[in-house]
Amino acid sequence: MPSLYDLDRAGLAEALAGQPAFRVEQLWRGLWVEGRTVDEVTTLPAALRQRLGEEYPPALAARADVVTDRGATRKWVFALPDGATIETVLMTYPDRVTVCVSSQAGCAMGCSFCATGQAGFTRHLTPGEVVEQVITAARHAAPRRLSHVVFMGMGEPLANYATTVTALRRLHEDRGLSARHLTVSSVGIAPAIERLAAEGLPVTLAVSLHAANDADRDALVPINRRYPLERLHRACEVWFERTGRRISLEWALIDGVNDTDQALEELAEFARSLAAHVNLIPLNPTPGYLAQGSTRDRVRAFRDGLIARGVNATVRDTRGRSIDAACGQLAAVTNGRTRRVPVAAPGRR
Ligand code: SAH
Ligand code: SF4
Repeated sequence: MPSLYDLDRAGLAEALAGQPAFRVEQLWRGLWVEGRTVDEVTTLPAALRQRLGEEYPPALAARADVVTDRGATRKWVFALPDGATIETVLMTYPDRVTVCVSSQAGCAMGCSFCATGQAGFTRHLTPGEVVEQVITAARHAAPRRLSHVVFMGMGEPLANYATTVTALRRLHEDRGLSARHLTVSSVGIAPAIERLAAEGLPVTLAVSLHAANDADRDALVPINRRYPLERLHRACEVWFERTGRRISLEWALIDGVNDTDQALEELAEFARSLAAHVNLIPLNPTPGYLAQGSTRDRVRAFRDGLIARGVNATVRDTRGRSIDAACGQLAAVTNGRTRRVPVAAPGRR
């Protein structure tokens, strides 16, 4: 069993077979509403808690736990029961508390600039393993209420479609998070975007564009060869038509690669035609990709250039840079692929 959060009410009832029916509700409330560990659901008798804890141990064991931005950003590397590692980042802002979750251990998409892509694919996560990241982060965010979830950790959520949709539904329906506060970030798997648009889930979609001509995008994001820009654009239109929700386009600004005047024109046209919002992120350097993020001045000029062309653009803050909180980097270092050693914390089990 990967995670207790893979069980729905009927599954919990089965796990509690022989117990009075109200115990199911107590366990449900403890796990989903209050976000407790089984051991902390003190409405249940101690012996029962112990048995459940043994049968369903937590799916996530902390291998590293680092805090930065004066306590406002916290990043974990979690080992799953089979030893695969993922990362989860909790970010606290004045007006919201956001967790960034992984949907896969590793990623098969192979984007050249991404540490997760460089490390390759290990396996899909289960819905419960995604939800457990959210609940664990929520517990650590208390007394603040965790309000937002972004699927921007390791993995391509739309390449693990069933897990992503089930996790979204359960976070919305069972955890009570607002659907529009759930953001799926995708590298651009066009048919899956269209399918997600038909699920009746008004979530937020971010598409990692990074280049708006096929030659450049082929080099940065290999899946572009399968779903080139014209196909991706069509999927984005379907999304907008079916959900009425504007798309965000993610653009990691890479010095001399996609921060040129020509790139600006191409992006402006792509974004304007979709009424999309653009999120600019200066590239976080990774060991396997020898390029730098754009300079601060260039980032600002690029943003201003988009705005002058009628595109709504913002620069995403680079939370957690000092702890490699972006994009698979901390998991990569704990797997021994680079020399930097993170602060290790004792595991929870
Ligand atoms: N697979 C999904 C979600 C995970 S990646 C996707 O690609 O959208 C989350 C975001 O981080 C994506 O926009 C991705 O392009 C970006 N990213 C990856 N590596 C990066 C790096 N080194 N610097 C800045 N952003 C990066
Ligand atoms: Fe995978 Fe996203 Fe990284 Fe590309 S950017 S390799 S899709 S995690």
